[in-house]
Order: sequence, then structure tokens, then C-alpha cells
Amino acid sequence: MRPTWLEIDLAALGRNYAHLAGRASGAEVIAVVKANAYGHGAVRVARYLREHRGTRRFAVATTGEGAELRKAGIAEPVLLLGALHPDDAGDAAQHDLTPTLVTLEAARAFAAARPGRRAQVKVDSGMGRVGVPPAELDGFVAAVEGLGLEVEAIYTHFAVADEDEGETRRQLAVFLEAARALPRRYPLHAANSAAILAGLGTELDFVRPGVALYGLPPDMQEAPGLEPVLAWKARPTLAKRLPAGHGVGYGLTYRAGGEEWIATLPFGYADGFSRALSNRGWVRWRGGYAPVVGRVSMDQTTVRLPEPVGLDEVFEVVTPDLDERTSLTGRARALDTIHYELATALSPRLPRRYREEG
Ligand SMILES: *Cc1c(COP(=O)(O)O)cnc(C)c1O
Repeated sequence: MRPTWLEIDLAALGRNYAHLAGRASGAEVIAVVKANAYGHGAVRVARYLREHRGTRRFAVATTGEGAELRKAGIAEPVLLLGALHPDDAGDAAQHDLTPTLVTLEAARAFAAARPGRRAQVKVDSGMGRVGVPPAELDGFVAAVEGLGLEVEAIYTHFAVADEDEGETRRQLAVFLEAARALPRRYPLHAANSAAILAGLGTELDFVRPGVALYGLPPDMQEAPGLEPVLAWKARPTLAKRLPAGHGVGYGLTYRAGGEEWIATLPFGYADGFSRALSNRGWVRWRGGYAPVVGRVSMDQTTVRLPEPVGLDEVFEVVTPDLDERTSLTGRARALDTIHYELATALSPRLPRRYREEG
């Protein structure tokens, strides 16, 4: 058993789901489980939500992620976020995934691939990334249907739902105007986690929470009503006393200031502990902090301790809170990135232990 692991509280995830569903009470939830459910394990998360919360729709980013859910027996509709590329149309059809169509080339390839029939169309209401221009929506939807495909829903995505309510309302208005100009009514959706929490787009047919399901505040500040889901723990594989001046790690970028206790922890940047934390990250130990000293290497990280440590002791690499040094959110801020990146970087090679009770 590898002496470093993730602990994932599925019951807390289920309560986050209920909280978000309650904030969008008229809408059906499409649970976003892309990037291995933001590092939490897509198959376990999808199964848990389906069995304990009655979730009937999921979304992923790639056909490979969709295929993994199918292989695990998830037969519910799975939406592929992002724009389908014609090269990927065969896999999408084969695994009965619902692609997002924004080009005629991809629509034709998907229609030709069979047996996939259902697709969704995305409108670019202002983000400039994926979507049909609002003025072209009508013609595009007609062309897609002309290929024999069913347009199951039409959606858009917000660029600044976590920081600019005015712009988000403007995007919503652009989207609704384009949808209302269509000859018939289609199911619509727009809201990601931040929009759900802000009450924007929650009156539509579906909502698409991702990050907030995992208890992470979309705006990196705080998230009332959301509970942390994930912790990362490790036991040391070695603890030794180094004499003053002794170097530590690749490049010998750290030297012991006096006699120091250094513990070697069995994870590295290949597990998702960023190398940028070299000589500046922290882990929690015995209720305090232990600083990372030396470079983080691929599979090992060294920390300085004030005293010896047993190999049976547990270090907390990621704490399930908003701690500025050791939570995903706080560490992301320190690294000038977002917790989405740190969560999705948690490697599949880290063992995951799931708790369903409580
Ligand atoms: C990832 C994604 C979401 C979920 O976003 P969160 O901010 O994690 O809630 C919703 N919609 C689309 C199109 C996405 O790509």
C-alpha cells in the first residue's frame, strides 16, 4: 500500500450536490466530472451521485473520459464539453456520448459516424472560445437537424460568473435572445458553479456545476454551504538528522542551517505536488506546519522538522479547508494559479480512499 493517498468524502460531495441543486431548484443538474472529476475519481463520483442523489446526467471534456464512464456501467447521458473535432466524431458516436457541435464539419462527421444521434449546440454569448455566433444559431441548428441529428439542448458558458454580475447578465441576455429567435423551444442551460451560487441562469432547464461539487469555492474566497471533500496524506519513508551545511535535493538548493531533522515524503511533482513549491511550500504535521526544503523532485519531497518523526506518523499534504498554506485554494493563491489546476493535477497514481458514510 503506497504510503501517500487521497481521502475523498463522498457524503460531503453528495451534500454539496444537494446544496447546488437547491440553489437551482427548477433545473436538472448535469454533474461535471471532467478531468477525473477534478482529480476526485470520475467513476466513483458518478456512481455515488447516481446512486445516492439520483443524478441522471454527466459531463466530461474528452471522448476518453466518456468511454471510461461507459466502461464502468454509467449508461446515463454524458455531454462532451468543448467543441467536437471531426477526428473525434467516431469515438463520440461509438460510446453514445452527446457532443457539443459548433462547426458543420464536426456535425457532418458525427452524423456519418452513427449510431450517435443526440447532440447539443453551444452559443458564444461573449467568451470568444467555443460556440456558434448568436446571429448564426438559427441556421446552424437547422443544418444540424437537416443531417438527421437531434438537438437535445442549446447552451452557453459564462466568462466571468465569479467576478462580474453585469457582464454575466449581458451574456445571459445575448444567449436567451438567440434561443428565443429559434422556430421552436429547446432545453437551455448556462450556469457553471459560480453562476449557480450567484443565482444567474438557474431558471433554465439544466445547470452544470463542477468545482463547487468538490467543495471548492469558485471565486477562491469562501463558499457558504459547501463542504470540503478531499484531503491528501502521507507517511514519511525516512527521517534523518543532517549536520549543519549538508545539502538537500537536486541542485543542493537548500543547506541545513544547523543540525536539522529532515523527513522524506513519498510524493513529488508527478503526483501533483508542484515543483514550484520547492523551498516555499508547506505541509501540516502535528497540528503545525513543516516547510518544504530543497527541490520537490518527481517522486519525493523533503520537509524540515523540529524533532524526529516516526514512519507511522501522518503528514497532511492537502488539508480539507481554506488554509492559506495547505489547502488547494490557499496553495493555488500562493502559486498564482487556481485550485482547479491543482485539483486536476492530482495524479491517477495516487491511491484514493473513499468514504461514503456520515
Ligand atoms: C468545466 C465546465 C463547467 C463547470 O465549471 P465550474 O466552474 O467547475 O463549475 C461548466 N460548463 C462548461 C462548458 C465547462 O467547460
